[in-house]
Amino acid sequence: MSLSPLLDRLAIGWFGLIGLVVGSFLNVVIYRLPRGYLLSLPRRSVCANCKKQIRGYENIPIISYLFLGGRCGGCQISIGVRHPFVEALTAVLFVAIYLHFGFSVLTVYYAFFAAALIAVTFIDLDFRIIPDRISILGMVLGLIGAMIHPALSASSHVLGLLFGGGVFWLFSFLYLKWTGRDGLGFGDVKLLAMIGAFLGLQGAIGTLLASSVIGSIVGLSLMFIQKKDLKMAIPFGPFLAIGALIMLFWGDSFVLRFYSGE
Ligand SMILES: [Zn+2]
Repeated sequence: MSLSPLLDRLAIGWFGLIGLVVGSFLNVVIYRLPRGYLLSLPRRSVCANCKKQIRGYENIPIISYLFLGGRCGGCQISIGVRHPFVEALTAVLFVAIYLHFGFSVLTVYYAFFAAALIAVTFIDLDFRIIPDRISILGMVLGLIGAMIHPALSASSHVLGLLFGGGVFWLFSFLYLKWTGRDGLGFGDVKLLAMIGAFLGLQGAIGTLLASSVIGSIVGLSLMFIQKKDLKMAIPFGPFLAIGALIMLFWGDSFVLRFYSGE
């Protein structure tokens, strides 16, 4: 659906704002989910250092961070720049998804996908885990969307899920068998299955290729710079997320147009 230029600009601003708010929520998810805290309780976030309740006006995405000078209003401890970064990143991705998919259900569908990828990336960087609650919920949402939306092929998305889960499980199994080391976690297996559920078979294959290439370049560069074996030190989830976003924005000629017969 195409909007008039004015409505289009309003929609861009609106998706940007929604992205900031969702990004703020993702910061809470990234902090609480791997620590096993409930997302809804306590209602108000508290400072991790001094336990001071964060007031409403201190919780406005990006603006509060700038206003408070990147410090807690209670104990003055520095709040990581990552908080506003996650908010800005989510806003940028939401706007990019809107510009790519237009005013459509697909935009909402892929906004969910992008939000899940952001949460997974930062949780994996911090804790080397990918919570099932995100990947399995993502698989379910990805498949439901693919079944409902006429532009998406449900069978391709089922195959994407099976390919993502299956091929990675096989890699993981063979790697363990040959090296005796647990190289790829099952979190990665479920993440690629989730990506396949959202992007379909071609998307899952493309994601695997793109993330392997980027992961190898980054991994080898780090090994070269730091002169040590970093194979175990770099989580693979963020590379899968980057690969998935590349496929989302640039792989659509294979993923979407192919199936909608354009
Ligand atoms: Zn504090």
